[in-house]
Amino acid sequence: MRFFDTHAHIGLIVEDTIERLIILKSAKHAKVDAIISICNNLVDFKKLYKELADSSNLFFAAGISPTEIEHKSKDWQEQLEEILTWNKVVAVGETGLDYMKKTGSRDQQIELFIKHLQLADRNNKPAIIHNRNANNDILDVLGSYMPKQGAVLHCFCEDPTFAQEAISRFDNLYISFAGNLTWRNSYNLHKSAIVLPLNRILVETESPFMKPTLYKDVRTKPEFIHTTVEYLAGLRNESVEYVAEILFENAERFFQISIPK
Ligand SMILES: [Zn+2]
Repeated sequence: MRFFDTHAHIGLIVEDTIERLIILKSAKHAKVDAIISICNNLVDFKKLYKELADSSNLFFAAGISPTEIEHKSKDWQEQLEEILTWNKVVAVGETGLDYMKKTGSRDQQIELFIKHLQLADRNNKPAIIHNRNANNDILDVLGSYMPKQGAVLHCFCEDPTFAQEAISRFDNLYISFAGNLTWRNSYNLHKSAIVLPLNRILVETESPFMKPTLYKDVRTKPEFIHTTVEYLAGLRNESVEYVAEILFENAERFFQISIPK
């Protein structure tokens, strides 16, 4: 069995390089053969890439999260365009809309989101989308700017109606579940995970956030991804081996990488 953690803020789990390498190593021992490292801005991204690009199970996304909209540099687009040519960078993100944190205005957030989607499209990369209280605007923007390589609604927190509407509107859109899928009262997520076709689902830890029930008292790490996969398989009444493998292949297809078995 092998696992793919499609969204982990490796730089936020621990401060120290050695400790980060230990986290990647213990993930590898836990059969997490691939991890996508996420940063919220380009400064953090560059630092982490320099530090960890040689780690065999680690790949990177780069972008400016809507929560960092006020901290971007003037030439961020040129910088990101160049970063997207680096060989372990496989996605644009995280990008999206966050109407809960209220950073920047709605128009400014939409503009930043659209620019990220255009960069993704131009560079043939998928986009990793953060959505807080912005369901309609997310779908509207994707309606005009969906990158050809597709997008994922990461750390999905909405209801099954929205999940189904979203995937039926776009055939290259995926839904990613984090550790909150395993919470007893996450009824909407449980229902979503059952009604969605398995080939449109990804999983993530959203480390160090979104603690799965089993590991509530510690900081979330990629090695915990198995709990979400096991829970998903249980909900769908499918074998863990089968679900883990399909999820892995979904992520390989989405990020256009192939990990040797
Ligand atoms: Zn995140």
